[in-house]
Amino acid sequence: MTVIVTSKAAPKEVEKDASMLKQKQMMAAHYDRLTSAPETGAKVASTFVPGNLNELLMCFDLVNNLPEVNAIQSGLRRQSGAYVLEAEKIGHSEDVCTYVKSDIGMMAKGNIGPNGKRLPNPDVLLLAYTGCFTFMKWFELLREQYKCETIMLHTPYLGDGRMTANMTEYMVKQLKQEVIPKLERVSGVKFDIDRLREYLKKSAEAEEDLVHVLQSAKHRPSPIDAYFGGIYYIGPIFGAFRGTQDAIDYYRFLRQEVDDRLARGEGPVTPEGEMGKETYRLVVEGPPNYTNFRQFWKMFYDEGAVVVASSYTKVGGVYDLGFRHDPDKPLETLAEYCLGVYTNRSLPMRIDMLARYIEEYQADGLLINSIKSCNSFSAGQLLIMREVEKRSGKPAAFIESDLVDPRYFSAANIKNRLESYFQMIEQKRAGARSAA
Ligand code: SF4
Repeated sequence: MTVIVTSKAAPKEVEKDASMLKQKQMMAAHYDRLTSAPETGAKVASTFVPGNLNELLMCFDLVNNLPEVNAIQSGLRRQSGAYVLEAEKIGHSEDVCTYVKSDIGMMAKGNIGPNGKRLPNPDVLLLAYTGCFTFMKWFELLREQYKCETIMLHTPYLGDGRMTANMTEYMVKQLKQEVIPKLERVSGVKFDIDRLREYLKKSAEAEEDLVHVLQSAKHRPSPIDAYFGGIYYIGPIFGAFRGTQDAIDYYRFLRQEVDDRLARGEGPVTPEGEMGKETYRLVVEGPPNYTNFRQFWKMFYDEGAVVVASSYTKVGGVYDLGFRHDPDKPLETLAEYCLGVYTNRSLPMRIDMLARYIEEYQADGLLINSIKSCNSFSAGQLLIMREVEKRSGKPAAFIESDLVDPRYFSAANIKNRLESYFQMIEQKRAGARSAA
């Protein structure tokens, strides 16, 4: 079922799946829970999406606040440009990740969340460091600002491409000796491992349905767009809902919706309705641009291009390669989750994943959206492009934009490059036909 809604930011009518509306309501309820914390007395933990330990935080009745998600919300609402400028005025350089600058600028301007209310100061900062150095610098800035307890869970980088028992043990030791005692102290709640097991069981159930949804894109036509639409799908599980009944209900609902589309042979729903004929199937590497999100998406669906798999929808957990949270080994599973997120994977692991996606999802090629201020994703992307191209024999292309800084979204440049890329795919197809 699709529903027409009118968005405040874009006066034109926007079509949304029923699941998208449900997701929006969940996110709104979460922001209300956060901003009402001073009245309800709830304590707040700031943490990052990759490696977020939502099940553990819930064991201490802590409400999870994710600075990157706040920056994304500011980007979608076209507020991030002013926040980024504010942060630059305070002295943060042009090259700093714009999620950070949007967050710092938002704090400087009163820290008003997407529901128009002030976001509470965190009681604790929990950093499960997963591969991106910026996370550490970002929390240093937040610690200076809030002067609250800061907990660092160090996740070893999968530099040589594998997870070892030593790595898991090292992380479990930190959880037992550092993280849990500090969370007990801040929250005043005693840790109960059976409570954690219950949440983990719920996580695994939702993860199963999410994977089903993502893998539905292996069909032709794909019933979903796994990048633009995928961003809606990952919202609850990458944020404050993993481990909750709400997440189970949402992913069951979404799965049914996608299965229905599949049964009817339909493609994805775009903001302008049904996508129409599927002409190109792409794998995309890199985060999207949020300040011009709809305009960016339109450049794809206008050409019949659907994204069948993306690395960005794996930043908060790589589930489609088999990982599920396991209630039978509660602390080890948290460690393995953090170790396996996309930002903690080495370049060869990322190349393997993308080449595998091209094959399994029968994609026409790889498109890289290189984000100017995200070093974690951008480092090595040219190498990734060349390698994936070599292995898959499919053409790859490179576009550039930014996360939430509108100064770095050049619509004409991106459109030109996309059009040339689609021509390249056509030539490749024509070559294959004449060789057959
Ligand atoms: S992964 Fe990229 S976008 Fe995320 S914090 Fe690091 S630099 Fe910023």
